[in-house]
Amino acid sequence: MKRGIAILGSTGSIGKQAIEVIGLHPDRFFVTALTAHKNAELLFEQVRTLRPRLAALTGAEEPVEIPKDLSFCEFRFGPRALEDAAREAEGQDVLAAVVGVAGLKAVMAARAAGKRVLLANKETLVAGGEMVMNACPAGTLLPVDSEHSAIFQCLQGAGPNAYTRILLTASGGPFRTWEKERMQRATVEQALGHPTWSMGAKITVDSASMFNKALEIIEAKWLFSAKPEQIQVVVHPQSIVHSAVEFQDGAVIAQLGAPDMKVPILYAMSYPERLPTGGKKLDLFETGSLTFERPDPEKFPALRMAYEALGAGGAACCVLNAANEEACFAFLRREIPFGRIPQIVEAALQKHGHLPAKNLSDIDRADALARETAKALLAAG
Ligand code: NAD
Ligand code: MG
Repeated sequence: MKRGIAILGSTGSIGKQAIEVIGLHPDRFFVTALTAHKNAELLFEQVRTLRPRLAALTGAEEPVEIPKDLSFCEFRFGPRALEDAAREAEGQDVLAAVVGVAGLKAVMAARAAGKRVLLANKETLVAGGEMVMNACPAGTLLPVDSEHSAIFQCLQGAGPNAYTRILLTASGGPFRTWEKERMQRATVEQALGHPTWSMGAKITVDSASMFNKALEIIEAKWLFSAKPEQIQVVVHPQSIVHSAVEFQDGAVIAQLGAPDMKVPILYAMSYPERLPTGGKKLDLFETGSLTFERPDPEKFPALRMAYEALGAGGAACCVLNAANEEACFAFLRREIPFGRIPQIVEAALQKHGHLPAKNLSDIDRADALARETAKALLAAG
C-alpha cells in the first residue's frame, strides 16, 4: 500500500531531500500536500512534478497568482495554512520539516487529525515538550533528526526504557578547534561553514554555537523519556557514529553511516522497513579513525543551559528555544556578534525560565515574552 505524505517545509534542506527519496520509491509513497514559506517559484515547480491536491505558501500575506497549469491543486496562503495542510491533507503521514517553533501548531493539528508525525522540526518538541508528547502515543511520532533516529534504531527490540545512557554525538561544528576569543567574533560565513553536514542556515548556526545539541538534548529527553543525567553529549568530528545507547550490562549499541540525512528521513517514512536511499555507503577503510572528545563547557555554554532548562521544567525550554531563534536570526542578519547568542538566551532564561507550559496558550505566552526580552537586548546590540 502506498503511504501519502504531506511535506511541511518542502523547499528546505530536509524537504528537498524527502522529495528525492520519495522519487526513488514511487511505488511506496506519494505526496499529498506541500508547503513553503516564501519560495513560490520552487513550490510551483514541486507541485507541477509531484501533483499534490493541496499546497500552501505560509509566508504570503495575501494570495499570489497561481500558474494556470496548476489548477488541479488547491493553494492556501498565510501562517494558518500550515495547520490546514497538516490537518486536511489526505494520507497518514505529515513530515514536519519547517524551521522553528512555527511548526508547533501544525504538529498538534496533524495529531488531532490522527496523522503520524515524522519530526525533523525539533524546535516544536523543545518548546512544546510535554504537551506534544501527550498528544503522541507510541508509534505516532517518529524522529527524523539523525541522532534521534540513530537512538531509535539502536533501541529497536530493546523494550521501553531499557537503556541506561544515551550517547548523543555532535560534530562540534566549525569552531570546535577555535579559541573562545576568536569564536566570539566569528562571521556569518564562518559559522555557515559546517564541516560534515549541509543544512539550512538556522540549524547550521545552531551547530556552530552548539545550541543545536542543546535542542537535541531536550528532544532526546522527550522522545525517549530520558532523565537529563542519562544524556551525555560526545563530540565526534567525523559524524559517522550518529549516536549510541548503553544498556544495563554495559553493552553499547551505536548506529553508523555516512553523514546523509536521506537515511533517517527514509527510515521514518518506511519504518519498520528499510529501503535503499541511493546514497553513498559507509566505507570504514576510507573513514579511518573515529575520534571522541568531551565538549568544552566554556566555549559552548548552550549545553549547560539545556540541562538547566530541563531542570527548571515548565516553559524554560520554550524560552531557551525562542530566545535562541531570535538571537540566531539576528546574527544571520549581521546585527549581533556570534558571542552574543548565548548571552541573550541566558538573559531570557533568567527572566522567564519559571513560566508554566501546561497548554498552547502558556507556551505562546512564554515564547512571546522570551522574544520580547531577546529583541530588547538585540536592539541594545
Ligand atoms: P531550511 O531553512 O532549509 O528549510 C525550512 C523550510 O521551512 C523551508 O521550506 C521554508 O520555506 C519553511 N519555513 C521557514 N520558515 C517558516 C515559517 N515561519 N513557517 C512555515 N514554514 C517556514 O531548514 P532545514 O535545514 O530543512 O531544517 C528544517 C527543520 O529540520 C529544522 O527544525 C531543523 O532543525 C531540522 N533538521 C534539519 C536537518 C538538516 O540536515 N537540514 C537535520 C536535522 C534536523
Ligand atoms: Mg541532529
